[in-house]
Amino acid sequence: MHCCRRRARSRCGCGRPGARYPAREVAVSDITVEARLVRAAVAWLADLRERLADAVRTGRLPHAVLLLGPEGAGQAELACWLAGLLLCERDAGAACGDCVSCRLFLAGTHPDCHWVGIEADASAIRVEQIRDLAGSLETRSFRGHRKVVVIDPADSMNISSFNALLKTLEEPSENTYLLLTASRRDRLPATIRSRCSCQQLPLPTPAQAVAWLQLQQSRDGWARLLELAQGAPFLALNYASSGLEALDADMQEALGPAGKVPFDVLGLADAWRADRPEVRLAWLELWLTELLREAAWSSDGVNNNRRYRLPADGDRTIITRGYRLLDALREARGRIGGSLNVQLLFENLLVDLAEWMRSNSWRAHSNQSRT
Ligand SMILES: [Zn+2]
Repeated sequence: MHCCRRRARSRCGCGRPGARYPAREVAVSDITVEARLVRAAVAWLADLRERLADAVRTGRLPHAVLLLGPEGAGQAELACWLAGLLLCERDAGAACGDCVSCRLFLAGTHPDCHWVGIEADASAIRVEQIRDLAGSLETRSFRGHRKVVVIDPADSMNISSFNALLKTLEEPSENTYLLLTASRRDRLPATIRSRCSCQQLPLPTPAQAVAWLQLQQSRDGWARLLELAQGAPFLALNYASSGLEALDADMQEALGPAGKVPFDVLGLADAWRADRPEVRLAWLELWLTELLREAAWSSDGVNNNRRYRLPADGDRTIITRGYRLLDALREARGRIGGSLNVQLLFENLLVDLAEWMRSNSWRAHSNQSRT
């Protein structure tokens, strides 16, 4: 696999977030091609795999395919599977795993497979990577078969990169296929979307996802992690390996003084920026969601049934502001992979959070709830 990145990091839910390793080692160490193919074989992607395989078999696959779904739905895994299928020289409707192309692909050294990802210490795919790619595609196929480009994640590109890619999309080289992965459709310009065949990845049912996660690792707490991952099992798996639950004590302690003055917003934002910022945002979302649920519902004290209780006027304002904060957190989670100042993002969030928690009404309500 020819990589248009020298060092890459995973953001797609198929490896540790922020893990860094030389790109050529991606195929043979942390995220192997085989590991991606195993994940791509999950049952809930079967229909989509069948449709794509049929399109390849009948020569109807468009030269540019956009694999779109929630983060962690398996876009990179499916792109890997489709790349292997396109590169297999036996064209038997499924990658044979045995021809020269398949062997090169599985070893991560196929010269006609170009995987473009986010370089280490970068927050987006750079325009130079896309220009390099265009240059690479001008050469003939090394194997005399198809050439495949995977851009993962395509929604991390900036406008210059999109413009550079547009020329490749408009004037595709012969027998060349571009596979783009994305979780944020709104980040892709209409000019890019309109030139791709968009394939939406489905999510499994929660029961199906938890059963699959239990097979990967037998443990408690999958349902909670899956909820946090908004139903995407690969992302839930990623959260588990990232130690999300282990962050509980650290985050609880950090937020303890948030309702009091002084509150070290800058120090905390700096610490969170440097250590698993995506996971911390996910934790904050879950924490705030549970706080708001607690505020809106109360136990009737009988059989532990829970009844909805309309908050008093003051509390209702607090809860409304809390939901606005929750919206901001969700928006931040969607933006953190792009070209974003993470320090500033955490500073803004923490200022709003501290102000919200400082509210006398909220404290009064919380104290009342505990008595
Ligand atoms: Zn093959």
